[in-house]
Amino acid sequence: MARIVMKFGGTSVGDVDRIRNVARRVKAEVDAGNEVAVVVSAMSGETNRLVGFCDSMTNMYDAREYDAVVATGEQVTIGLLAIALQDIGVEARSWMGWQIPIHTDEAHGKARILSIDTTVLEQRLASGQVAVVAGFQGLGPNNRVTTLGRGGSDTSAVALAAALKADRCDIYTDVDGVYTTDPRIVPKARKLDRITYEEMLEQASLGAKVLQTRSVEMAMKHRVRVRVLSSFSDAPGTLVCDEDEIVEKELVSGIAYSRDEAKITLVKVSDRPGVAARIFGPLSDANINVDMIVQNVSEDGHSTDLTFTLPRSDLARALKVLEGARDDINYRELTTSSAVVKVSVIGVGMRSHAGVAQTMFRALSEKGINIHVISTSEIKVSVLIAEEYMELAVRALHSAYGLDAA
Ligand code: ASP
Ligand code: MG
Repeated sequence: MARIVMKFGGTSVGDVDRIRNVARRVKAEVDAGNEVAVVVSAMSGETNRLVGFCDSMTNMYDAREYDAVVATGEQVTIGLLAIALQDIGVEARSWMGWQIPIHTDEAHGKARILSIDTTVLEQRLASGQVAVVAGFQGLGPNNRVTTLGRGGSDTSAVALAAALKADRCDIYTDVDGVYTTDPRIVPKARKLDRITYEEMLEQASLGAKVLQTRSVEMAMKHRVRVRVLSSFSDAPGTLVCDEDEIVEKELVSGIAYSRDEAKITLVKVSDRPGVAARIFGPLSDANINVDMIVQNVSEDGHSTDLTFTLPRSDLARALKVLEGARDDINYRELTTSSAVVKVSVIGVGMRSHAGVAQTMFRALSEKGINIHVISTSEIKVSVLIAEEYMELAVRALHSAYGLDAA
């Protein structure tokens, strides 16, 4: 007997028939003798609809009331799934976040889970009852409903798996696993049998939307074995696990890309201590996340050019901040571009092998693609390139690292 947490996303519970299909999958695990807790999202499109109501009411709403509205989507699906389970003879009960409770901080709209009290759930599971738990929801310190940010049901599921010490957390979605890259761009992309937490974390934070980034952080911290699989097929999916569990490690396991990029260059800023702090301080105060940074060596010893990247959606705000601080920073000119994308190669194999970056640079140069900015981490090399070359670059890199399916 195992204890498992199963999570179903919005498309998997998109209508009544699909909820019946989910119930059958849950029943199969129960019939196999497992203790099962199920976490569900709202029906696909529902959370967007609810957010839309808030947006059309006013653009300055109280985040506590936003949470009161958007948390309702999951209440519907837990009730319906419990009914569907009971209808096929499976004992089941629905649970809202506050009923468990799942305690969070008070950051309404993007709350973090602090602790989960599993006392009652444990008793119910032991008695053979399936717990159907609302994803995305929590209970804040002031006794109000909170939500965990978009895509947050993944985090609910992993957190619950950690708290219940589940043997695994199966995340059912509309893709059948984690791929070497986006199959819409590279038809020869391959599904991975296994991927490490670290690689998955890079993929998630670089914009691959399979799992919410926080859920991967949580899985890595608590060593929860997560399986990503499709609720529409019986394919085995991808296991997100520890590096030791992967026997045949690939040098590079994935090529990721992000279109949400913009670039700012400050021309001729003075080259003296404290200048970087004066530039990036106000940006971080404005909650703007700067990603890649390059500063040239100054030729004249007095001034230098500084280029950095940020989310495209923050560009307008960043320009305001920098123009406001112009006298303090002291730059001659400011140029921007939002016609740029970031392409990254990811792989834990990089830690122990040289030449990974070189393969990337050669593959891009063979296609005549110019690199604007480069950044590296222990398991990732990223480049910023012109937007029109994105697909070409991703395909070229996928081949260059031998990732193409036969
Ligand atoms: N329903 C929420 C959303 O659409 C949470 C989730 O589905 O993970 O963001
Ligand atoms: Mg999701």
